[in-house]
This record gives sequence, structure tokens and C-alpha cells, in this order.
Amino acid sequence: MFLSQGSGDLCNRYRPRTFSNVIEQNTVIRSLQSAVLSENKEQTYLFYGEHGTGKTTTARILAMSLNCSNLKDNGDPCTICEDCSNIIKDVHPAVIEMDASDKTSVNDIRTLKEGLGLRPLMGKAKVLILDECHQLSSSAQNALLKISEKPPKGVFFILCSTEPKKILPTLRARSQGHKFTLVSNKSIRNLIQMVATVEVGDIQEDIVDALTEVSEGRPRNALKNLQKAIYIGLGNRKAVLGSLDLGERDPELISLCRLVMKFDVTWREVVSQYKKLPSTIDAETMRRVLAGWFRSCLERARTPIEARRAARALELFVEIFPPVKPEN
Ligand SMILES: [Zn+2]
Repeated sequence: MFLSQGSGDLCNRYRPRTFSNVIEQNTVIRSLQSAVLSENKEQTYLFYGEHGTGKTTTARILAMSLNCSNLKDNGDPCTICEDCSNIIKDVHPAVIEMDASDKTSVNDIRTLKEGLGLRPLMGKAKVLILDECHQLSSSAQNALLKISEKPPKGVFFILCSTEPKKILPTLRARSQGHKFTLVSNKSIRNLIQMVATVEVGDIQEDIVDALTEVSEGRPRNALKNLQKAIYIGLGNRKAVLGSLDLGERDPELISLCRLVMKFDVTWREVVSQYKKLPSTIDAETMRRVLAGWFRSCLERARTPIEARRAARALELFVEIFPPVKPEN
């Protein structure tokens, strides 16, 4: 449980500030907690996985732990010392966050290299967080590889990427990789319920369900969707549900998806639900919703049986509804 902190939108106010507050990602978190406590720290990390799953948030927590002057026994940063507060406020001189989609030139990496050799003005560690690092040109990636081969003492790189396959294999091999996965609907639900309770006091169950569904296992989406719903007014149920991508708009489609994922469903039941679909749903919407739903079930499957079921459903529906090719 963590409380609202700072100001700004919900994503910012409920952003986890310690490893212990990160939602799920247990393997990654445990490994990072022990990494910050160890004497021989890895200096290059690669955080990869779906967007909205907490890579940059965790990178900032790692930067705090590496600099914190009052580190907790479990590796969590204290969040209140001068270094921690400056990192939270994004004004720490030794923690640099770059979005590679903005700065892709090799020169930026070289300029950074020149600065990296200097002792940090503040804190113990210089940390470069590089978002979307697969978007760096290959010469920029090569420059980064050179620096990470022999990084100056106290300098750390945290590379974040949604497409790690586009990163040079040599750079990937240099880094300690950590995979971030979509989180369970149960955790997304808890997050929505907890934040809504703090912010507005109460929220209807079906709104929580719909928000959970459209958030697709991404805590950031959950907070963004909740923010939108609060803005519309949680009492205005119809408008809130109507504003979401799924939910009210295609309830029959969602029922069909749910039915297919049930273990004891019969083909007859599926056909009967399929026949209930309104004729206004076009093939492309059908394809998008079904493929999206089963893909997200597959990504969040907790058992091999669940995964096989989702994979089979995905395969089947993609066969029935192939992507529409744009006309020339
Ligand atoms: Zn601290």
C-alpha cells in the first residue's frame, strides 16, 4: 500500500518510490534489491518489456538506491534524504534521463561520455537512464557499448526498451537484463480501487471492471484511465463506460472472449454467443478486439494450460479474421 505523494496527475502522484511498492515484477525487484546491497555492483542494466509496466519507474528507484545516503536494509531507498528527494523532483545533477527517440545522434552519447568521467557533483553514483534505447542509431549504440565495456567507477547505465531485439546483441550481452511483464488483473483492480478510494471515496464495481479490462495489465494505463473517469465524473456511469475503448461499446464481443477462455465451454455456447453479436460490429473491430483480448490473456497467463488456451484462441480468431489489407 502506498499513498498519494507530490503533485500532478495520478500517474505521477501514485508512482512507486521504492522497490517494495512496485506492483508485481517480483523477480526483477528481488534481484535489484540484492544488487544494490552487493559490493560488486553491475554497472549496465537493461530493463525490457511492454510499455506501461514500470521500467522507467524502477530505473528511477534504482538510481535513488544507488545514491541514497540512508539506504534501507532491504535495498529500498529512504525517499527523503537530499539525493532521493532531488531524484524524485528530477533535479539531481548526477541522474540523467534521456529519451532515445529524441536524442539519437552518436554525438549525444559522446558528449555524455565526456561528462561521465567526472566525479558526481552530488551523491555517490552517476546514473544515465536511457528510455527507448532501441531507437538509438547503431553508431550511437556502438559508442554506448564502448563506454559500457569499461565504465568509469560509480557510473551506471540503465537502458530501457520495449523492443530489445533492436539493440545490438553485443550491448545486450554487456547488460544485466531484467524483463518486465504485464501485471495481473487482480493487481490492476486493487490499484484502481485503492486510488479511487483515496481520491473520490467510492467507485462502482462495474466501472472498476471496465477500467481493469481496458488497462491490459499496465499500471500506467490503469491510472490514466481512472484519471479520465474521475474527470468525467464517476457518478456518470454511462459516460465513463462509453469513454473507454472496450466495455460498454462491445459488451457482446467481450462476453464472447470471456466465454472462449472458460475451461468447460462447449462449441454450441460459443456459436450461440457469436450469433448475439450486433450486425453493426465490423470485421476489423472484431479482429482488433478479439486479437487484443487473447493476446493479453496469453501475456498474463499464469499456468501453461491457460497460455495454451489463449494461444489457441488467438490462432483461431486470427485465422477467421485476418488483418484487413489497405486498399491501393
Ligand atoms: Zn535516500
